[in-house]
Amino acid sequence: MELIDGKKISEAIKAEIAAEVAKMKDAGEKVPHLAAILVGEDPASQTYVNSKAKACQEVGFDSSTYRFSEDITEEKLLETVDFINNDPEIDGLIVQLPLPKHINNQKVIERILPEKDVDGFHPVNVGRMTIGLPAYVSATPFGVIQLIERSGIKTTGMNCVVLGRSNIVGKPMSILMARNAEPGNATVTVCHSKTKNLKEITAQADILIVAIGQPEFVTADMVKEDAVVIDVGIHRVPSDKTKSGFRLIGDVKYDEVSKKTSHITPVPGGVGPMTIVSLLMNTLKAAKKEIYA
Ligand code: NDP
Repeated sequence: MELIDGKKISEAIKAEIAAEVAKMKDAGEKVPHLAAILVGEDPASQTYVNSKAKACQEVGFDSSTYRFSEDITEEKLLETVDFINNDPEIDGLIVQLPLPKHINNQKVIERILPEKDVDGFHPVNVGRMTIGLPAYVSATPFGVIQLIERSGIKTTGMNCVVLGRSNIVGKPMSILMARNAEPGNATVTVCHSKTKNLKEITAQADILIVAIGQPEFVTADMVKEDAVVIDVGIHRVPSDKTKSGFRLIGDVKYDEVSKKTSHITPVPGGVGPMTIVSLLMNTLKAAKKEIYA
């Protein structure tokens, strides 16, 4: 069994981005700038936004965070999006989700200019990705593609099963794995909560990508011998073995499944570190106008 080391791969990509930023600086160009909008006090959202800002700093990007209290109106939030859209200094904008219930998430996402939508959530980017045009691909699926590519795993002609069909992970993941490219060119099956005979389907997978949000759902009997298993899930569970009193687990029962696989991502240290790095890659592309010339 070979471990797919997301931490190591993400560090290597960060070093490449930092080298690119240094070159841009030397050439007298503006460095990439990522802006984030954060509404409310949700601790998980605050942590995500802070770690995105820290990652920007590590690679030499500028970053700014627009913080608002929970009671901000939708109108004011949309005005802020417009303001950032029109600021030529800012290359990429992300809005940390979820937003408070009185704000329509989709309306806010669609207000971001596709050219600055480095989260890849705008329907224009989703549509462009789907028909194979250059697009910002949402960070987690893009991170999984990077992991597969940099681990030297070949996907052409393989049976790939994607467990989960959410807009941010499962759906784009299935499109990327079926696209006419490497990684890609796989024969893809998408499973969800209404799928019948799930175990029989997952057990056919040469590559199993799991994003269902159910702790340790995938057990060894659901996995083919020598399969590649990518675990997107993250769950915080109580533990008496750690100082913090909790530990992280995935959607896959790692201890038993890893014994059968050719390659597997651990949790933590697999897909997780790749998500922020993908966002940095998208922001670099935005600054260099690589997607929308
Ligand atoms: P969602 O809850 O949005 O989607 C879950 C999907 O799994 C749905 O399509 C659902 O089906 C399907 N599903 C749920 N239960 C079952 C079941 N028993 N059998 C078959 N299918 C099932 O989750 P996300 O895609 O947003 O996230 C998935 C996991 O990945 C979570 O653990 C999340 O924390 C993690 N995550 C990790 C990230 C990272 O950076 N590493 C980033 C994003 C997410 P249906 O559509 O029918 O309801």
